[in-house]
Amino acid sequence: MSGPFSGSLVVVGTGPGKAELMTPATAATLARATDLVGYGPYLERVPERSGQCRHASDNRVELDRARHALSLAASGRQVVVVSGGDPGVFAMAAAVCEQIERGEAAWRQLDVAVVPGVTAMLAVAARAGAPLGHDFCAISLSDNLKSWATIERRLKAAAEADFVIALYNPASKARPHQLGEAFALLRSIKAGETPVLFVRAAGSAEAKVVATTLAEADASVADMRTLVIVGASTTRRVGRWVYTPRGAKP
Ligand code: SAH
Repeated sequence: MSGPFSGSLVVVGTGPGKAELMTPATAATLARATDLVGYGPYLERVPERSGQCRHASDNRVELDRARHALSLAASGRQVVVVSGGDPGVFAMAAAVCEQIERGEAAWRQLDVAVVPGVTAMLAVAARAGAPLGHDFCAISLSDNLKSWATIERRLKAAAEADFVIALYNPASKARPHQLGEAFALLRSIKAGETPVLFVRAAGSAEAKVVATTLAEADASVADMRTLVIVGASTTRRVGRWVYTPRGAKP
């Protein structure tokens, strides 16, 4: 949408890590920006360009960052907001939409776009085989923006419906115990031999995979750069691969 503003705002995701997993559309968008806005470590993945301003901020200030990006765009800058992975998955695209809803009415006339990226779940799945080969869901274990009761309700429903479950934000220094609690809840519904994958830094040179079972899964393996996949009843291990058959009745 174009309107009275000469500036623009595009929300992109750098992919899971390696430069080759950043899409060409994202790279081209980054090259055109006058201003880059994002969490410091994500901005570091973007090659430096002379004349480009970088506005790095802390991880927890997403709404302030979105507001700042919108006001820069409203002042005529070509702004790119940088997320990791895909910008719409537990990331900045929703924060930007939220600020467009709450903020100055004129911001609705801004030229805003979202460019898709490779989300962590896809990089993790590719590394392990095809654990997302049939129906799956993604749940963030972070209770910064929702209650733990909501997370438990969703985990229970997903387990009862026999989805493969991708767990984003499984642990952080501020939230060390939740993954253990999530495993305890899932063990009360799913079989102990259900495959569980921990993949740290997928799609980067330091990628590390731990394949285990729900009965044996050790929550302390996960940190904030880890994504956990808990299989469905049909998910299985074949040699070094983990996959979920495409039919519910294989
Ligand atoms: N927008 C991001 C997700 C942000 S939430 C995306 O689409 O990937 C942050 C969580 O994503 C982390 O706690 C971790 O669970 C997961 N994550 C992000 N990058 C990852 C990677 N390279 N490997 C494994 N998990 C990753």
